[in-house]
Amino acid sequence: MTMQKGKIGVTTENIFPVIKKFLYSDHDIFLREMVSNAIDATQKLKTLASCGEFKGELGDLKVEVKLDKDNGTLTISDHGIGMTAEDVDKYINQIAFSGAEEFLAKYKDNANAIIGHFGLGFYSAFMVSKKVEIRTLSYKEDAKAIKWTCDGSPEFEIEEIEKSERGTDIILYIDDECKEFLEKDKIESLLKKYCKFLPIPIIFGKKQEWKDGKWVDTDTDNVINDTKPAWTLQPSELKDEDYLKFYHELYPGEEDPLFWIHLNVDYPFTLTGILYFPKFKNNLDIQQNKIQLYCNQVFVTDSVEGVVPEFMMIMRGVIDSPDIPLNVSRSYLQSDSNVKKISSYITKKVASQLETIFKTRRQEFDEKWDDIKIFIEYGMLTDEKFCDAAMKFALLGNTEDKKFTLEEYKKIIESNQTDKDGNLIYLYTTDKTAQYSYIKTATDKGYDVLLINDQLGSHFVGLLEQKLEKSRFVRVDSDIIDNLIVKADRKSAQLSDTERTVMTELFKSQIPEVEKSEFLISFDATGENSQPVQITQNEYMRRMKEMAAMQRQMSFYGELPDSYNLILNIDHPVVKKVMDDAKSALDTEISPLEKSISALNKRVSELRDKKDASDDEKKELETKEKEAENLRNEENKAIDAYAVTNPLVRQLIDIALLGNNLLKGKALDEFLRRSVELLK
Ligand code: ADP
Repeated sequence: MTMQKGKIGVTTENIFPVIKKFLYSDHDIFLREMVSNAIDATQKLKTLASCGEFKGELGDLKVEVKLDKDNGTLTISDHGIGMTAEDVDKYINQIAFSGAEEFLAKYKDNANAIIGHFGLGFYSAFMVSKKVEIRTLSYKEDAKAIKWTCDGSPEFEIEEIEKSERGTDIILYIDDECKEFLEKDKIESLLKKYCKFLPIPIIFGKKQEWKDGKWVDTDTDNVINDTKPAWTLQPSELKDEDYLKFYHELYPGEEDPLFWIHLNVDYPFTLTGILYFPKFKNNLDIQQNKIQLYCNQVFVTDSVEGVVPEFMMIMRGVIDSPDIPLNVSRSYLQSDSNVKKISSYITKKVASQLETIFKTRRQEFDEKWDDIKIFIEYGMLTDEKFCDAAMKFALLGNTEDKKFTLEEYKKIIESNQTDKDGNLIYLYTTDKTAQYSYIKTATDKGYDVLLINDQLGSHFVGLLEQKLEKSRFVRVDSDIIDNLIVKADRKSAQLSDTERTVMTELFKSQIPEVEKSEFLISFDATGENSQPVQITQNEYMRRMKEMAAMQRQMSFYGELPDSYNLILNIDHPVVKKVMDDAKSALDTEISPLEKSISALNKRVSELRDKKDASDDEKKELETKEKEAENLRNEENKAIDAYAVTNPLVRQLIDIALLGNNLLKGKALDEFLRRSVELLK
């Protein structure tokens, strides 16, 4: 007996073809919708029971998902509130909305948006079904069980049936094109994905065991979900083991996380969750999109951009909030003010929790710092508010592997590493082995050297320079130590013009070809006990190049050669000897040239200074300049010719290059041979 026939009240007649056609890509979510509805109906019944409106037996409230391959059906059954004929008419039949076509066209690529926006959850069944049947018995006294059937056209039928158990069965007659949804493995994997943490037990068949060479059903229900996942409990109810267990449930096979943060707010929005700092084995391991987003324990997505700040995307765990408009597009999500509030709440909470860990478990925090610093540094660089909070617990580690807060470190170096202008100089190394001798020179002077060797290092150092007043960070090899921390006005290297010319050309002519590098010769007087020749690399240029390597738009810097200074210590006896030998060997040849050059230069600068020079004078300037240049070339030639005869020059350069790992291939081979020769 057919009770009622009618048309489903959508204003757009073709809702079903639209659902089928446009929502094609996201078929899977139908099961989430069906199971969520079953859970809702069950929860509603529990609520009614607890407030006394339902006085009957609750019974076993499990939700069952059953597959019948022979009949081609998938059934979702619950023992919730059920529906009367009126309910079905009201909630299932009347899904009227206006502007449907426009909306569908706009969001045609986002099934979530359409389904959630219009409360079309139930109708997603038609994405995979040629016919859907609802068999339901309401909890209400004297309710009659009914069956609703619809074959995918907007026409439906309702009739009374025999059904003794309270609750609803949704029977999906799976479409021929969607046969995959009749596969046990497919359904089980969908249930595991979307329903793993729903609050009512979901049963999918029986647990199986291996018997007599095949898998057979046991008597135990196969329960899909953990109905009380850790994030839904109070922090006080949980021990460390529980947090770890939950982590491994989410990410099987991963190493233990370093720290976790339990989120729990109910005003001005509701949000719960647990965020973990994962331990990365290496940088390749760093993955985003591992945080799972839930809405009342229903899995929604694992792409959380917009909901958590970008730097937190490498964290793991779960966020559950009914207040995140999950069914809208990503761009909308990012501009939603509620979402912004949530994102800044999470930032604040993570920062304050880190501060608590730092304060209460300092030793552990120090030990794990190297694993979490990439996260914290990235956060500080990209999020102003987080940065301000993190200034209290961000750590600096030195070459002896000791960790300090910025405040602590400042106290340690303040007295010794403040230069004559009152700037605090932070020395750092990026490679303890390669820059060993520079570190040693610094520590011998009683200075402390930081180890800053992660990918974000140069960015982080730049940030600290902005944040800390009158402070500079310099890498130990960016200049000789007395120039890095200038204590008092130092005497500069005292050299005559001729000495300067001779020494510059002498050393310049002997520097071997080093790939993508250029060298400038300079002089200093650092005492006879310090190195004769040192190679340093300009801090500013180096940082620019490092940052260029990470950012495309700065590639201009990336293409410049590495620029080094070769600094000759004129106090050193060997350097002195080289200079004296060169002077006496070259004197007769060079002295007259120098005299002529200096006379020419004098005239050149006179002429240059002239405001209204005549044409003759302009011509004279040109010839004089040319003449001086020729003489200079002649002089350099003489120096070059001498340079090859003095192996000490090349030897000094090579030692310095070797000390910086810049001596390679042919040049290294020559150095080794020359060294042996010099021993003879
Ligand atoms: P939503 O769940 O967003 O309200 P749906 O289209 O999924 O939208 O469901 C429409 C309504 O149908 C629900 O609000 C509920 O009243 C009713 N309903 C759906 N499934 C069930 C069920 N298994 N038991 C009882 N009522 C249900």
